[in-house]
Parts: sequence; C-alpha cells; structure tokens
Amino acid sequence: MSEQAEWLAQAVEEAWSLSLTSHQREQFEQYGRHLLEWNQRINLTAITSSEVIYIKHFYDSLTMIDAVPMQRVRSLVDVGTGAGFPGIPLKIVFPDLQLVLVDSLRKRVQFLQETVELLGLKGVQTVHGRAEEVARERRYREQLDVATARAVAKLNVLAEYCLPFVCTGGWFVALKGAEIETEIQGAKRALRTLGGKEDFTVIPCSLPQEAGMRHLVVVSKERSTPRTYPRKAGTPQRKPLE
Ligand code: SAM
Repeated sequence: MSEQAEWLAQAVEEAWSLSLTSHQREQFEQYGRHLLEWNQRINLTAITSSEVIYIKHFYDSLTMIDAVPMQRVRSLVDVGTGAGFPGIPLKIVFPDLQLVLVDSLRKRVQFLQETVELLGLKGVQTVHGRAEEVARERRYREQLDVATARAVAKLNVLAEYCLPFVCTGGWFVALKGAEIETEIQGAKRALRTLGGKEDFTVIPCSLPQEAGMRHLVVVSKERSTPRTYPRKAGTPQRKPLE
C-alpha cells in the first residue's frame, strides 16, 4: 500500500470517523495511477504530483461529507465531473451510491468509463452531454437526491445546471474555493427561481497540510424547478440568471 493511500485513510478516519477497507485504499491507488497515465495523453488535471492529487482531488472531493448526510444519500449526479471529481472518490467511500457522471467532453467520458471498469464500480452511469440537455431527460429530471459540481461555473450558472436534477427535499452542493462572497450575493435570486431554499448554508473547510481553504454551498430544494429551466445549452453561461 502506498504512503499516500495510507495518508488518505488516516485523514478520512480523523476527519469523518470513517475507516477505509484495504479494497477502498487500493481503488484510490488505482484511480490515482490511471489518472496520471491518461493525463499524459489528454488534459485531465493540471496537478501532476501524486501527493497533491490525494489532497486536492481525493480529499477535497470527500469534503462533501460535511455538507449532506452521505450515508442516507441514495443517488448523486456530478455535473461537469471532468476526471471524476467529486463523484468517483465519493463512490469509492460510499459504494452503494447510485452515481451519474456528466461531462460534455467525450474523451473525458471515455476516461471515466474506463476508470469505472478498472475499479469495478457498480451503479455508475457515465453520460456524455451538456447539463442543460441531460437535465431535461425524464430519467434524470428531479430524480437525484444530490446534484454537485466543482470548478465548472459561477454559482448562478451552476444552479441552473444542477437544481433541475434534484428531487424536492434533496440538495444542490457546490464545491467552491476560498473566495465566494460576491458569487453568493449574485446567486440568491437564481437559487430561489430554480426551486432552491432561500437561506442556504455555506460551510468553510480547510484542506490538510495547509493546502487551502474551501467552501461548500449547500442549497435545499424546496419546490419543483419551473419547466423553462435549464434554458437552451449555452444560455445559462451567456445570460446568467440574476
Ligand atoms: N469537476 C472536475 C474537477 O473539479 O476536477 C472538472 C472541472 S473542469 C475545470 C470543468 C468540466 O466541466 C470540464 O470537464 C467540462 O467539459 C465540463 N463542463 C463545462 N460545462 C459543462 C456543461 N454545461 N455540461 C456538462 N459539462 C460541462
């Protein structure tokens, strides 16, 4: 077992009192190796050090555990998942989770499909498409307990990508960086329009080894999203809800 996988297991135990089995540790190792291999062929991540991958991708993805009761979450969609963050680390730790990974870049979805097979993950759908279109499909619309995204768009744009996937009573969780105040102010109306609860929660968290500050924006879904949302592909980005 690599030093990094051991480090992650210990960090997860300390932060969330969860103990990773040797199988789960191996899955993280396989994932890290596979990511670095593919990264030589296609651009998946700017991070090329294995050590940093464990902190800034794996641990960072798992901070979602602070936002929602993951043990009770049955299904989760990760919008603009790229190389699988935060979805795949969450699936490794919570193997019963039904996971939908959405990305608009075909090559990344190929990487995800290979990763799912390599790690032997069951109950994962990899979907090539734009969130604005996938969220209109009946099998996904308002069908998921949680919709999440990291590093995809500003909060008001992201809300239009994510909230249509979430069932009433579920959550939209945005994994954000250190600076979020302006984004939050600009997103309040959009969240309301899309069925999100007005007083959402912002949870600050710091990565281990002083690797940086993060914020989780947690929005409960109170009402159904009006059928007019999400708007046509490209419109949320071009004309963000105000
Ligand atoms: N979430 C990953 C992470 O944190 O490492 C990837 C972040 S990457 C900067 C943004 C990803 O979002 C890209 O893979 C891109 O293809 C995808 N993306 C951007 N807009 C999208 C949309 N409207 N629908 C689906 N995927 C989208």
